[in-house]
Amino acid sequence: MALASAKKAAVTVAVAVTGATLAAYGAYAAQTSSAAGQPSTSAPRPIARSIVATGSASPSPPPSHSASSSLPAAPSSSHAAQSSSTAAGPSDPGSASAAGLSNGFTVSNALQFATQDGGKSVALTFDDGPDPRWTPKVLALLAQHHAKATFCEIGPNAQHHPDLTKAIVAAGDRLCDHSVHHNERQSSMPLDYNIHEIADAQRQISDAAGPGAKLWYYRAPGGDFKPVIRDIAAQHGLRPIAWSDDSDDWKRPGVAGILQNINRNLHPGSIILMHDGGGDRSQTITALAKLLDQLDSQGYTYSFPAR
Ligand SMILES: [Zn+2]
Repeated sequence: MALASAKKAAVTVAVAVTGATLAAYGAYAAQTSSAAGQPSTSAPRPIARSIVATGSASPSPPPSHSASSSLPAAPSSSHAAQSSSTAAGPSDPGSASAAGLSNGFTVSNALQFATQDGGKSVALTFDDGPDPRWTPKVLALLAQHHAKATFCEIGPNAQHHPDLTKAIVAAGDRLCDHSVHHNERQSSMPLDYNIHEIADAQRQISDAAGPGAKLWYYRAPGGDFKPVIRDIAAQHGLRPIAWSDDSDDWKRPGVAGILQNINRNLHPGSIILMHDGGGDRSQTITALAKLLDQLDSQGYTYSFPAR
């Protein structure tokens, strides 16, 4: 009995915390709507790289993904494929939370490891763009191979290159929110900051994409997918998406190194993480050409993360 009571108490606390999140979000929504959608972060401005964890003023390399091990379910093995089938199931703590808050969510807040099509499909994902040097090259390679991909854009990058964001949509690829400032310690910041990081980038990317374009997902910089982050994403209709195959291309390990990183855990259902922005992605482009040849010859098809 004592144990059951303790469990119940713990659940109550969890609900209370999330309730506070929702209440704060309500206040935020009212505030932004009265401000006619013009919060300070929506104005075009350079990417505030100084806010990024390294404090580097250089656009490259992104400090990103150094915290990839912080993914709640480290997708470093075939477990990722297994978890994919249960990502929205009762064993996933995120989905349990979503079930308890169904009124406030249009998508699950559970971290998604599965591809939409299942079978022998992979989901290619490109983060930190769009970038006029690299995104067109990625799109050209994808087109050559009739492949689709998901692009996790940083809001201001989309603002600066709406043509690229529109090209992504026109090619049948999908858009994903990757925050405004790429702060890998986002969840350590106040709630209002977190909401702005996700909601403002969503607006920036949506504006760049044009009417009718859809934002499908949220990917947290550095894999900072704490529950509060996933809740905010889900409240905005964005499914949090993980990765199972980290190319570590931003470290520029060489083309062979990138391919080795991807192939280490490649399996049907892989969600592959690469970058089309954040620095010199020439190795990524060369590696992608080889990867697409390889995937084609192995009989893989191209899908998206399941929503
Ligand atoms: Zn990133």
